[in-house]
Amino acid sequence: MPVKHPLQQARFLCTAARADQLPPAGPPEVAFAGRSNAGKSSAINALANQTRLAFASKTPGRTQQINFFELRGGALLADLPGYGYAAVPLELKRHWQAFVAEYLATRQALVGLALVVDARHGLADLDRDLLAGFLPSGRPVLLLATKMDKLGNQAQRSARGAIERALAEAFSEQASLVHVVPFSATRRVGIGEAERVLGQWLLRDDGSTVVADAQKEKASRSRGVTRGPKRPA
Ligand code: GDP
Repeated sequence: MPVKHPLQQARFLCTAARADQLPPAGPPEVAFAGRSNAGKSSAINALANQTRLAFASKTPGRTQQINFFELRGGALLADLPGYGYAAVPLELKRHWQAFVAEYLATRQALVGLALVVDARHGLADLDRDLLAGFLPSGRPVLLLATKMDKLGNQAQRSARGAIERALAEAFSEQASLVHVVPFSATRRVGIGEAERVLGQWLLRDDGSTVVADAQKEKASRSRGVTRGPKRPA
């Protein structure tokens, strides 16, 4: 029987506007990032097969916190605030950049980053900055080149090629960590390939979740502790 993908049955967990509001790290976590309006919320909703899980905001830049979702099996998805929206005051922008950069650099549970890029615009400076901060950690990136439905076949190939060249130029050694997937939330293009990549991060070969395994290990460790000799009073 096909195993449901971890993103199916995702549910909202909490928001964090500061480091001390982050949920306890433990279960593996994937983060979704992208410029405002790139199509990040639509991509998350398409992958989760829900229409309004991540809120596709009418006002870009309004969502100024990390939104956490719990996935099937207990893994977490962190929806990072969209960046690059001009109307956000500079001070707030700095606060967000610092918060997100710190989160990406220090979050132990993070197993990979999904970066949503509007295929028509390609890799922006802020996308490069984000990758430059993340790739040295050696963790993988899923780059969803979205809104492909807005391009014809030839333009789709050019857009993908341009993104791959830009990655190779900017990150020669680490470019192989980035898996580019042509994507469209509206036409549901690239969903299977994106699921496969996210599944590699979150699932074991037999389809069980990494979290379930971690929980089993923890449970057997704690059973071991309770069965052990009582400490002397
Ligand atoms: P976010 O700010 O990155 O979360 O972007 P949204 O998901 O809110 O999308 C921004 C706009 O692009 C909205 O009007 C979406 O309907 C549209 N959009 C997002 N993904 C796609 C896509 O794959 N194809 C098309 N044609 N439009 C999309």
